[in-house]
Amino acid sequence: MAAALGDPVRHALESVLEAVRDRTDGAVATYIPELATVDPEQLGVALASTHGVVHEAGDVEAEFTIQSVSKPFVFALAVDALGLDVVRRHTDLEPSGEPFNAISLDEASGRPRNPMINAGAIVMSSLMKGDTADEKFAVVRDGLERFVGHDLVVDEEVFGSEASTGDRNRALAYLARSAGTLGSTAEVATTAYFRQCSLIVTARDLAIMAVTLATGGVNPVTDERVVSEDAARWTTAVMTSCGMYDESGDWMVRVGLPAKSGVGGGIAAVQPGQFGIGTFSPRLDHRGNSVRGVASLELLSQRHGLHMLQHHGPPLSPIASLTREDSGDTIAVLRGEILFSEAEEVLTRLAPLVGDHGCLVLDFSGVTRVGDGAKRVFVAAPELVGQAPDGRARVAVRDPEGVLGD
Ligand code: GLN
Repeated sequence: MAAALGDPVRHALESVLEAVRDRTDGAVATYIPELATVDPEQLGVALASTHGVVHEAGDVEAEFTIQSVSKPFVFALAVDALGLDVVRRHTDLEPSGEPFNAISLDEASGRPRNPMINAGAIVMSSLMKGDTADEKFAVVRDGLERFVGHDLVVDEEVFGSEASTGDRNRALAYLARSAGTLGSTAEVATTAYFRQCSLIVTARDLAIMAVTLATGGVNPVTDERVVSEDAARWTTAVMTSCGMYDESGDWMVRVGLPAKSGVGGGIAAVQPGQFGIGTFSPRLDHRGNSVRGVASLELLSQRHGLHMLQHHGPPLSPIASLTREDSGDTIAVLRGEILFSEAEEVLTRLAPLVGDHGCLVLDFSGVTRVGDGAKRVFVAAPELVGQAPDGRARVAVRDPEGVLGD
């Protein structure tokens, strides 16, 4: 669904692009020769909401190769298919503080530091189902297509360019293979990986891929579940600690959005539960992160309070009203979304009202959702509080919509 014309969010995105447009520092990647041919002036940003609405500004239809922005999504496919325990036998999940192409393998275990740097990403590609590079790449492409919501095509020029100059990545693959952490031959792994990096996307695509992690693994445009909630959460966690390479710590402080960059000039950023952002601008800083992409996300985060650890002031109380009835019962009408902390507030504030006479009625009719962690707290409550002298439970629940489940 495209956002309406005159859309204020689009306006906010356009304003950010104008503010960063004069940043002409940095340089397009040249170590993959074909990447040096792109127009460095291109600049676009898209923000996709969890309702599947996409707000866009600038060159959102401009095509570029996904490069390392593919890494978290392939990690997500790997943990979704194989489980975290198996994947962790092949890679660590620790920030490396090193450049993306570092020769990074733990001496003792032979594992790459994390799946966001090349060493770990090549290992992830090698773990895809199938024996040949074509088979493994088909699994990657199919998975990334579900994240994006449409077919993806390889830029054969970029693929050829990287394949003919990618010896450092081959070296990483051979090291991983000799350490026993690669799931295929080095050649199969790097061919699949180079093709994966050469898939063509747009800023809009990256926003939709990112929001698919934000929703816990469901693409909100196609409504298709792409990976499990666990896989989406684990992936966002690794993006948080490792996504911006040796800038990851600083990035978390300044911008506070789990993100992943690529040398094609793209960045995908996730605000869990809220939205995904894709940016595109080809000139890179010395770490291989898009200069204007980083600047845009930093400005957006500052202007609109998007840091994931932003304190938004005291939350609305989950207790909408308290009424004492003639019978001695107290009716507590609850509202909104009840997660663990709301459950804690409800039960702590209302516990003193549970007297010898009358019982406390928790009315959930205004509650939209009760998180699983909160349910566990509520389920235990009546038993802990026990029964009134007349034999009735001291805490009763009214739940006409069944938000508490069984
Ligand atoms: N294909 C690139 C490489 O392996 C990806 C690197 C990146 O985007 N940081 O060198």
